[in-house]
Amino acid sequence: MPQPRSYTTDAIVLTRFDLNEADRVLTLITPGAGKLKAIAKGIRRPTSRLGGSLEPFAELRVALARGRTFDVVTQVSVGHPWLRLRDSLESAATAWYLAELADRSLEERHAAEPIYHLLRRAYELLDAGMAPGRVARWYEMRLADELGVRPEIDRCVECDRLLEPDDRFRWIPPLGGVVCQRCPGPPQERAGLSLDALKLLKAYQRLDVEALAGLRIAPLVEAEVEAALREFVAVALERQARSLAFLDEVRADR
Ligand SMILES: [Zn+2]
Repeated sequence: MPQPRSYTTDAIVLTRFDLNEADRVLTLITPGAGKLKAIAKGIRRPTSRLGGSLEPFAELRVALARGRTFDVVTQVSVGHPWLRLRDSLESAATAWYLAELADRSLEERHAAEPIYHLLRRAYELLDAGMAPGRVARWYEMRLADELGVRPEIDRCVECDRLLEPDDRFRWIPPLGGVVCQRCPGPPQERAGLSLDALKLLKAYQRLDVEALAGLRIAPLVEAEVEAALREFVAVALERQARSLAFLDEVRADR
């Protein structure tokens, strides 16, 4: 059966760039059709019917017509605007980072439903005022699960020994997690991972998001886990996210 020429879907804008005089090309994530590129023709004209609603950080309802290169946006309405997410520059910069990770994780037109719902939930949490760093760590850990690269933090990835609290261990993302002191691991120097950071990584793997939001965590431990998870995700996606530079700038300015 031929595919219908037009369809309507929920969508979140991941990236966008301007094309020609008045058009814009968007990368959308949708629950059913996966990640796709769409063109919004004439959207930059003041008279455009598509208007200002085709923006990131919102759940949209988008009508599209199938096109040869890009599908064409014919109508948009806003489902959830998540307006409070934009009130803080740090939370907006975090939202860009999360969108970039989703974008990097997906092939076009492949099933994306779990990652769509993960991103949607993360935006809800940012909008509800949860600390952006906590939302980002929670999201990174869940994304690793979705990509099938859940970090190993209970056993040594080299000898499979269950780690004890008095062990010393190193965090080695290219190997998939922690390495115990008895195993050599790769030759390069690596700082050890503190026991508190290991516990926090376990919390991100095991606790639900409400419990994570309420944890009291020393800033140094939070910073250690941030570095550990960022590195893990960069290895899984084969490069560092570009939006991190902006996020770090915003946070240094606080
Ligand atoms: Zn070992």
